[in-house]
Parts: sequence; structure tokens; C-alpha cells
Amino acid sequence: MLTLKERRPEAAILLITHNMAVVAETCDRVAVMYGGKIQEVAPVERLFANPLHPYTQGLLESIPRVDGERPKRLKVVPGTVPSILDMPKGCKFVTRCPKRFEPCAEHEPPLLEVEPDHFVRCHLFGR
Ligand code: SF4
Repeated sequence: MLTLKERRPEAAILLITHNMAVVAETCDRVAVMYGGKIQEVAPVERLFANPLHPYTQGLLESIPRVDGERPKRLKVVPGTVPSILDMPKGCKFVTRCPKRFEPCAEHEPPLLEVEPDHFVRCHLFGR
């Protein structure tokens, strides 16, 4: 059976999902969003091999694994998404980020290209 890309190479599909396994199976590029903003963009293989944003890292660590030793508890991204009516002033992930530091609450980081075709919105990069 031909894939969509083989049948219609000029076509594109925008898939919006929380299911990273579906992303890994079907997508060429992935944009991870949080708080209404793109936090990381890269080709799908690169993002899964080298997630740079703390939210992306938390998402990928929370995927249950069927291989290896079974963990006692599933990993989660702690906390909850802030209300759209009360978003943090700086980084939108600051209330849940295990790596937050001084500038994060005050200044929203720009989306920077930190390696070819791999963009991240985080103060840990571009300093
Ligand atoms: S900018 Fe700061 S709070 Fe936001 S993801 Fe990066 S380290 Fe975490």
C-alpha cells in the first residue's frame, strides 16, 4: 500500500495529538506545544533521540515502556497546566519545570535554533 507521501508528495497533514507513539510512527516533523506556544520543533527522529526542552523530556519520560524492568510508578510531569487566564509572565512551563532558574519567571525565552533544524524555547540554551 502506498503512503500518503508516495501518493501525494505535495500534500501535508497537520496532526494534533498527545500521543507521542502516534507522532513517532506517522510524522516527519514535530512541534511540541505548551501554554499555547511552540516550545520545541525538530524532525521527529532528532526530537525523540535528543529532546532538549524540559517539557519534551518529561513527555517522553512518561511514555510507558514494555521492555526492561517494570517501574513501580509511571513517571509524570508534576503539577498542572496553568489557566489560560493566568499564564506565567515568563516561560509558560516555569511552574512545573525541574530546571527553572533565575530568568525563567520574569522573561519568556525566544524560540532559538540550537542545532540545524532543531528549535527550542528555553533559557538553558542561547545564553
Ligand atoms: S526557560 Fe526555564 S522554566 Fe522554562 S523550560 Fe527552560 S529552564 Fe524550564
